[in-house]
Amino acid sequence: MLNFEFKNPTKILFGKGQISNLANEIPEGSKVLMLYGGGSIKQNGIYDQVTAALKGYEVVEFGGIPANPEYEILLKALEVIKAQKIDFMLAVGGGSVIDGTKFLAAAALYEGNEPWDILAMRIRTEKGFPFGTVLTLPATGSEMNSGSVITRDATKEKLSMGGPGLFPRFSVLDPEVIRSIPARQLQNGVVDAFNHVLEQYITYPAGAILQDRMAESILQTLIEVGPKVMKNPNDYEAASNFMWACTMALNGLIQKGVPTDWSVHAIGHELTALYGIDHARTLAIIGPNLYKYKFENKKEKLAQFGERVWGIQEGSIEEKASLAIEKTLVFYHDLGVQTKLSDYTSEYQDTAQFIENRFKERNWVGLGERQDIQPGDVFKIVEMSY
Ligand code: NAP
Ligand code: FE
Repeated sequence: MLNFEFKNPTKILFGKGQISNLANEIPEGSKVLMLYGGGSIKQNGIYDQVTAALKGYEVVEFGGIPANPEYEILLKALEVIKAQKIDFMLAVGGGSVIDGTKFLAAAALYEGNEPWDILAMRIRTEKGFPFGTVLTLPATGSEMNSGSVITRDATKEKLSMGGPGLFPRFSVLDPEVIRSIPARQLQNGVVDAFNHVLEQYITYPAGAILQDRMAESILQTLIEVGPKVMKNPNDYEAASNFMWACTMALNGLIQKGVPTDWSVHAIGHELTALYGIDHARTLAIIGPNLYKYKFENKKEKLAQFGERVWGIQEGSIEEKASLAIEKTLVFYHDLGVQTKLSDYTSEYQDTAQFIENRFKERNWVGLGERQDIQPGDVFKIVEMSY
């Protein structure tokens, strides 16, 4: 096992009716900025529950944060924080609203002139402006981690940021929010969480027996409950297990003591920035091809994934590893998620070259758990995904 440090300060309020308890977590007398997305919370009753829970606080609202939180829009929220002398932020939404709020938590205390530098120059946020979240869409794990991904339409960029100052103070996880989520977003949630686990698990063996078993149990849970929530979002048992599995997939716990990959996400972000493809779907497009391309590096863990998660008992390491990739593709297809770039855009021909150039321009060191995925490899992986 590799050395590690672990601290996750986010308090979780999990279960039915927990939204009504959120005010206990916000310092008394705070002026609260409530942030949300395109308005789904006004249709499904979450807005009413949150505003009722915030009774007694002075609340300023900022709605309209789009899926793939957009820099220019967030700058407007930053002005509100400063002009209105906000003390606390409450994100009510999925990964996009929560990530947008994390950007604001960093930008509100940032002393430089151009907040985009936090992303472009990869500046870690040690201390952030305080915020909590009400999660409306299980998928990203953003409700219990310190990472964020921000989009800038003008330059077609989607970049990550993070730091210990960006953990939410608290997150409310009420599985009943799942009832109003459209099928497409449920599919995305299963696939995103599944890939979060794979990025921390399909690397090379590091002798971390417990982390491996925890990763496998999250994958097994997603395979079991994903189709159930798709079939019946009112199934509370499936919904609650789905929600907690998504949080556990990316709250730092399974990442400790093991190597991590994250190249599937890094390449996937480029596809979202270019074509607006949903984040999770970019992972379904890139992941299986990346595992085929880096097969020699990853085959031991792929075979273990095949044995323990997919129940593959017969064959050599290579055969089990290959079959595990195929089973994963079938899982995505059965959920209704397509896995080729050409399923999403007809203008894919120059994509591999474009993304290779992007990685060269940024001068990034190699991607992946061995930092050996160079821009030329990214070209080949993207080309395999056409
Ligand atoms: P999302 O972009 O937050 O939301 C997708 C859509 O679902 C929105 O249109 C939203 O509508 C709707 N929605 C949310 N909750 C709903 C509900 N209860 N009922 C009905 N509709 C609902 O989706 P996401 O997958 O959670 O987040 C994706 C973003 O997170 C991407 O930018 C991705 O890069 C990022 N991400 C972050 C991390 C991290 O660790 N920080 C990890 C992976 C991905 P409204 O806008 O109307 O609310
Ligand atoms: Fe993700």
